Amino acid sequence: MNAVTEAGIHLGKRESIYQPENNDLIFPEIPTFTKVEDERQHRKERLVAACRAFAIEKFDYGFAGHLTIRDPEHPNLYWTNPMAVHFDQVKVSNLLLADHEGNVLEGKHALNRAGFVLHAAVHEKHPDIIAMCHAHTVYGTAFAALGKKLEPISQDAAAFYEDHQVMCEQAGQVAVEERAGYNFAGALNKVKGIIHRNHGLMTVSRHSIEAAAFWFIALERCCKQQMLVESTGIKPNLLPPEVARYSREHVGSEYIGWLHFQPIWGYLKENQPDMFD
Ligand SMILES: [Zn+2]
Repeated sequence: MNAVTEAGIHLGKRESIYQPENNDLIFPEIPTFTKVEDERQHRKERLVAACRAFAIEKFDYGFAGHLTIRDPEHPNLYWTNPMAVHFDQVKVSNLLLADHEGNVLEGKHALNRAGFVLHAAVHEKHPDIIAMCHAHTVYGTAFAALGKKLEPISQDAAAFYEDHQVMCEQAGQVAVEERAGYNFAGALNKVKGIIHRNHGLMTVSRHSIEAAAFWFIALERCCKQQMLVESTGIKPNLLPPEVARYSREHVGSEYIGWLHFQPIWGYLKENQPDMFD
């Protein structure tokens, strides 16, 4: 069985990691909703969890970093984290609801306007993209200085094979997010990750904030691993293109990204109940 959303987005194969005949075993299921209020609450809670996961990963850098998820009822509006609040202190009650122009429609905090312009440009140009993550991370920003793509050095890195872009325009300029917004939007056609030279990483999902957040964590990790390998001075063995593509289809799908986030969700739900405040 393939996991397919209502919108018909192919999410990837379930059987490659789960035997569906074992129906009595506990296994995460993608939720469905009959009430839009329930779906909104679900998305807000997972957005908070994504922020908390970024805190655990030490992806904070001052007030930099923003995550967005579309509202299920009003897809031209986005839920996002409040400006100048640590990822570890984001909770359902301090999330912001904003429009394309960066106006805050719900919430008490200010919005990271420069960063939001970038998100709004991507969401506006790609109606299929529902979630997006960006942060100034140690390894992603370091790797981004090289201005090159990830190599398929492992199964994990193959998840991004022919599924990410390097963007060099307007890299490293002040207020880069504002000016780069529309160029980012163009580079995101059908891929899930961007390496912006001299700036950092960005990931998107056509499925969920969980998938966007996990692929961000994965992209940062891949940047770190490639730099570790290259620091040895030994040329790494690369997966052949057909093997890298096969791996990407099996370990790089939206569904797999969503599934990878489930242990993180379970951990946070248990250990950080103030997320739901
Ligand atoms: Zn930035």
